[in-house]
Amino acid sequence: MHISNILKNNGISFGFEFFPPKDQKSSQQLFTSISELIPLQPAFVSVTYGAGGSTTDLTHGLVTRLQRETSLTVVSHMTCVGTTLNGLRDILDSYYNSGIRNIMALRGDKPKNSGITEANDFRYAAELVSFIKKNYPDMGIGIAGFPEGHPETPNRLKEIDYLKAKVDAGADYICTQLFFDNHDFYDFCERCEIAGIKIPIVAGIMPVTNRKGMERMAELALGARFPAPLLKAFGRAQDDEHFEKVGIHWATEQVRDLVDNKVRGIHFFTLNKSKPTLKIYDSLGVTNSVELSREIN
Ligand SMILES: Cc1cc2nc3c(=O)[nH]c(=O)nc-3n(C[C@H](O)[C@H](O)[C@H](O)COP(=O)(O)OP(=O)(O)OC[C@H]3O[C@@H](n4cnc5c(N)ncnc54)[C@H](O)[C@@H]3O)c2cc1C
Repeated sequence: MHISNILKNNGISFGFEFFPPKDQKSSQQLFTSISELIPLQPAFVSVTYGAGGSTTDLTHGLVTRLQRETSLTVVSHMTCVGTTLNGLRDILDSYYNSGIRNIMALRGDKPKNSGITEANDFRYAAELVSFIKKNYPDMGIGIAGFPEGHPETPNRLKEIDYLKAKVDAGADYICTQLFFDNHDFYDFCERCEIAGIKIPIVAGIMPVTNRKGMERMAELALGARFPAPLLKAFGRAQDDEHFEKVGIHWATEQVRDLVDNKVRGIHFFTLNKSKPTLKIYDSLGVTNSVELSREIN
């Protein structure tokens, strides 16, 4: 089923994101996490893709395994940076032939020292969206949104114009980058509404569970902003265990607030771990997504 149809249902839809493991041990850990997360009844799961094609086979392998061995609805991420039209066509054909009907269409970022030049066929995600829409009309298409802004965007007006170009090219829903202040998300949603962007917006949530992860996250998320109260709470944390508790508590409060404000969807960046997401559901007093979603009916 297309994610946009899932998001049309009453209630809130919850998605979990995984990245493709690089070796057998990580793969076993991931599938243990997945088996622990399945009882939470996610409406969909997604698998990331290494920009420049660095994880093409790994992503495809995980996506098709999830498709084959579970009843989960799977979204495959795909980036266009450094990829030729023919290369993208091959990848999309293989997804299509494996029964995948949901793609998260992204530009991606050129990996450092990758040697990738601009001379690829697509410069921006909007072009990838158009290509998928035209050549694979059965595919559902998600796109990225940035409540805190994307660092390459010169200003907030252009940001929404570029986002609208992706929507007009045929995207069905937006999934946002992680954020730690829900006001950034609500402000983003309002700006979309004013611009006439009517497709559903799914909020991206990532619990911070360790100091190293926090630094890495700020880097990966292109400079995520940590609100002062969160930084203060991290500063008080005596050890790794308390640091994790603070991060999970903050994410839990974000989710509670988003649910109370009737968002269409929440997407957890799990980093292939089950514990933080399980703890969030537990602290909210529910055992699965259906119970959490019912709160808004
Ligand atoms: C939910 C989510 C999942 C992600 N998953 C992955 C993943 O699996 N793999 C991965 O490598 N990355 C992933 N990313 C990161 C993403 O690829 C990067 O943040 C990338 O820099 C932006 O991608 P985009 O699709 O938003 O690009 P675009 O929409 O193309 O935007 C990129 C930049 O170009 C600007 N821009 C767009 N159109 C124009 C135009 N016509 N003229 C001038 N400027 C323009 C935009 O404002 C923006 O600053 C993900 C991000 C999110 C939010």
